[in-house]
Amino acid sequence: MLIAEKKLEIKEIVKNARSEGRTIGLVPTMGYLHKGHVSLINRAKMDGCFTVVSIFVNPLQFGPTEDFEKYPRDIERDIEILKQADTDVAFIPSISEMYHNTHLTQVDVSILSEKLEGVFRPGHFKGVCTVVAKLFNIIRPDRAYFGWKDAQQLIIIRKMVADLDFNLEIVPVPTVREDDGLAASSRNVYLSDQDRKKACVLSKALHKIRKMVELYKITDVRILLEESKKIIETENVELQYIEAVDLETLKPVTSIKKNTGILAAIKVGNVRLIDNVIWE
Ligand code: AMP
Repeated sequence: MLIAEKKLEIKEIVKNARSEGRTIGLVPTMGYLHKGHVSLINRAKMDGCFTVVSIFVNPLQFGPTEDFEKYPRDIERDIEILKQADTDVAFIPSISEMYHNTHLTQVDVSILSEKLEGVFRPGHFKGVCTVVAKLFNIIRPDRAYFGWKDAQQLIIIRKMVADLDFNLEIVPVPTVREDDGLAASSRNVYLSDQDRKKACVLSKALHKIRKMVELYKITDVRILLEESKKIIETENVELQYIEAVDLETLKPVTSIKKNTGILAAIKVGNVRLIDNVIWE
């Protein structure tokens, strides 16, 4: 596996792969890799891509009181995981390589960025879109892989690509879960054993919703949300939001049908966790 730390290096590597007729697949990550990330890489490999995985903890997407400094990092371990997954090249730039100190520009996919997560993390998606737009321009991938785990992010990136005429395809990948149902996430390491048990109430509630829709054909959002809130209330966690929305506009819907989903966030102690159930 190749490792590039400079934009010029990654551009050269990608140029060579492209001249050999390869399709370029990009998997953007913040590292501390887990099986969710690996499923994105596997999908890119399965699609026959020359697979570029970027690892960059992007300061622009963290609020002033958020966990940028203590976000988990382990580059040695990440490199091992990337090699195991048969990644072609890892792009691991420094902050100064990505942002020169006069950087001003931010990409704002308005309205979509202000809902749901945006209420609790103002400015977050501006930071995400800015770094993703930069990665798209540096690497010029044919495809970029994003997880449904971060549903709002995926929807916003798709909109940015459509609005700004980026010439690539966004490939969504299903959420990978731990054995206890918790969606795999780098932030799960913050959870104590006791908090982790509490955190599972969210995936449990979303699983119940899926069953109610798919098995019992209950599609009335009022009933589904009522039931899920009842389950979440059984644990001492803070429910920040749970909403049924259209998967393109993020506008609220009153019944579940194709292209809708239920997106939620809880806080367990100091740890924020997001999860969702979607009907593509
Ligand atoms: P992150 O490193 O958390 O920024 O995530 C990088 C990419 O991996 C994003 O597209 C996420 O949606 C995706 N991802 C994170 N966790 C999961 C998961 N449990 N299942 C599938 N994709 C995931």
